[in-house]
Order: sequence, then C-alpha cells, then structure tokens
Amino acid sequence: MNKEGNYCFKITDFEKQNFKTQQKINNVDFNIEGLISGNYWINAFRGKKNIDINLRIEYKRKFLCSRCLEKFVEERNIYRKVEAVENVNVSLPFEGQKINEEEDENLIYFDGETINLYNILKDLIVLDEEMKLLCSEQCRGLCPVCGINLNKNQCCCTVEKSSKNPFDILATLDDK
Ligand SMILES: [Zn+2]
Ligand SMILES: [Zn+2]
Repeated sequence: MNKEGNYCFKITDFEKQNFKTQQKINNVDFNIEGLISGNYWINAFRGKKNIDINLRIEYKRKFLCSRCLEKFVEERNIYRKVEAVENVNVSLPFEGQKINEEEDENLIYFDGETINLYNILKDLIVLDEEMKLLCSEQCRGLCPVCGINLNKNQCCCTVEKSSKNPFDILATLDDK
C-alpha cells in the first residue's frame, strides 16, 4: 500500500502561480484513532528559495467528550501556513519530516523533485486533539459521586450539582 500517494507533490506543480488542489485524507493512511474521513486544500505560492503553502484541513473524527466521556463525531477545520524550504544541508532530516522542536513547527523541508505533506498533515490532526472537546456546551458531565452520565440519567446523590438548578430541591420539599 502506498501511504504517500495523495500527499506527495512534484515541485514543478508549484512553479505555477497560485497552485491550488483539493485532496482526500484517507483514514487508513493516517491510522489516527477515531478519524473517519477528511479533505485538505492547498494554495501554494512559489518563492525563490521557498514555497508558501496555505493548508486547510477539514476532517470528521470521533472524539471523547472530556466532561461525560461519551464518544461524539465532530467536523473540524484546521488552517495553517506552512513554509517549505529546499533541503541544502545533508544533515537535515528526510523530506517532509518535521524538524526538531526548537525550530519553527511550520517549516518543512523538501529534497529534489517532490514534496511530501503526509507528516505535517498527520501532525496537525493529531495535535488538534489535545484541546479539550465537549460533546455539547451544555454537557452536564458525570455525577461526581455515582459516576452516572447526567445527560442521560438523574441520580439521587445529595451533592450539589453545579449544573442543576438549586430551586429544584426546594420545589420537591414543598411537595411534601
Ligand atoms: Zn459530554
Ligand atoms: Zn449520582
């Protein structure tokens, strides 16, 4: 299986002014947990020594809600400007690979005829998960006492639940 088919470009493609393309992101190629499908768009400008690549990634992925721990599907967008520089130094890592952490994370190298965006695409999608995601802004999360999912069930635990209206308790007392 060729993992890099849709992610490699000929440098000569970028010779054209304002090179644009849309490509599929195949979940099998990326092996990222929960990734369902996606597309990415390139809008590239060739400079003298470098290529400016405007990347837009749109993908669907199953995430875990950080409050109620339920899985949910969300469509997300990433925009990133990447600069590709010709690799003139032999000691640099191989083509398309992200260079070490102290250097600009939006800088990638290409070598010779082709440029490979596989690694940068994968990095961007993987890093996108690190932010806390919620299934909904109104997610009530789990009861801190019994652990029940408060979006689906109610429990009788006596701790004050921040998301619950305190007047509910008064109302039940009035009934007695
Ligand atoms: Zn949730
Ligand atoms: Zn409870």
